[in-house]
Amino acid sequence: MENKIRKAALLLAGGRGVALTGAGISVESGIPDFRSKGGLWSRFDPNEYATIGAFRKNPAKVWKMLEEMDSLLEKAVPNRAHEALARLEKGGLVEGVITQNIDSLHQKAGSSLVVEFHGSTRHFICLWCEGRFSRKEVAGRGMPPLCDCGKPLKPGIVFFGETIPGAALHASARLAENCRVMLVIGTSAEVAPANALPLRAKRSGAAIVEINVEPTRLTRELTDIYLEGRASEILAELERELAAIP
Ligand code: NAD
Repeated sequence: MENKIRKAALLLAGGRGVALTGAGISVESGIPDFRSKGGLWSRFDPNEYATIGAFRKNPAKVWKMLEEMDSLLEKAVPNRAHEALARLEKGGLVEGVITQNIDSLHQKAGSSLVVEFHGSTRHFICLWCEGRFSRKEVAGRGMPPLCDCGKPLKPGIVFFGETIPGAALHASARLAENCRVMLVIGTSAEVAPANALPLRAKRSGAAIVEINVEPTRLTRELTDIYLEGRASEILAELERELAAIP
């Protein structure tokens, strides 16, 4: 393991790193991923509650889950893994983070270039009239919050069955195609099209360093260096190793 950490640190020391993060990086901030037992997603099946079809059919039902998720996200603070990525960006080794998460924890930790592939809960949109509102504008509109046109608002997150916003697709492709090393952290790589970004990076010549508590499909098919463990611990080891490089 020590040897693999050293190899990964040497790769990262060359700069032009990019991180692709998933729900696993925020587990240590108290936000369950899709696999955690006893968490939000064991009570609200994502197949039932996180699809655009479910939202259109019964927004009030989906808002029950969203309300609970929102109170969890509001309380969450960045953990050592988010902070390490922000430091790596400030140190010039990581150019940006592409995150599948909707929790804004990378920004809270101080990362400045963050591509939110699946949107965020900082704004709300109306699927019917395309109205767009900030969180402040929506406060006090009841549950579910209604648009000026009277229809229920949807948080600005990408539900299963929706397309990825063009700006996020473009920015993430640019980062993936121009990096030297991609750190793939805490993602099962099961959700498309985000899971195609590591292949895109690899085809453009990047090395793939994967950090996860258990192997994924990528580990077998694409990853160059697999570092098994919690994101906060592995990133701390990587930073220690980087500091030791003359
Ligand atoms: P996923 O739940 O499918 O997979 C999470 C991965 O993280 C797993 O491979 C797991 O082994 C790994 N993991 C768990 N704890 C870890 C830790 N401490 N350190 C390192 N790895 C750890 O999540 P996904 O691949 O991101 O895809 C699910 C979709 O749902 C994405 O769109 C995701 O953003 C969204 N989601 C977001 C949040 C959030 O915003 N925090 C939470 C749940 C789901």
